[in-house]
Amino acid sequence: MNPEDTDAGWMRRCEDLARRAALAGNTPVGALVVLDGGVVGEAAEEAPRGARPFGHAELLAIEAAIRAAGSRLLERATLYSTAEPCVLCGFAVRETRIARVVIGRPAGDIGSARSRFPILAADWVDRWGRPPQVVWWYEQGAPGRQTTRRS
Ligand SMILES: [Zn+2]
Repeated sequence: MNPEDTDAGWMRRCEDLARRAALAGNTPVGALVVLDGGVVGEAAEEAPRGARPFGHAELLAIEAAIRAAGSRLLERATLYSTAEPCVLCGFAVRETRIARVVIGRPAGDIGSARSRFPILAADWVDRWGRPPQVVWWYEQGAPGRQTTRRS
């Protein structure tokens, strides 16, 4: 399968999840974790209306992926999200060693890629190893031209 088609398909699925979140009165964010070509975790945002105070779509998708994979390390995985993971979710990306993050829109001051807390780009935390590849899906738009390596 063409990798760009794969990214586009996964981002469409994230957008569906984001719509589901909005319909439930939550922040419109959808996220999923893809490992070896298949979804191992996905979630619609459950904040602020859900029971979990920090029910961010990315965190929920990563937690589901950990359960599905049976491992806290997701080194071959890609996280897709309609929004830039916040600092909390960026921490989860780094702890699980997710290799690639495909991002929809920026999250501003609390983002983990472009804010003053660029956890996704941090290369000074030994146990996290190499930072993930970050792809800004809407900005870098055209398939085949959307990759940015941060290292
Ligand atoms: Zn978050």
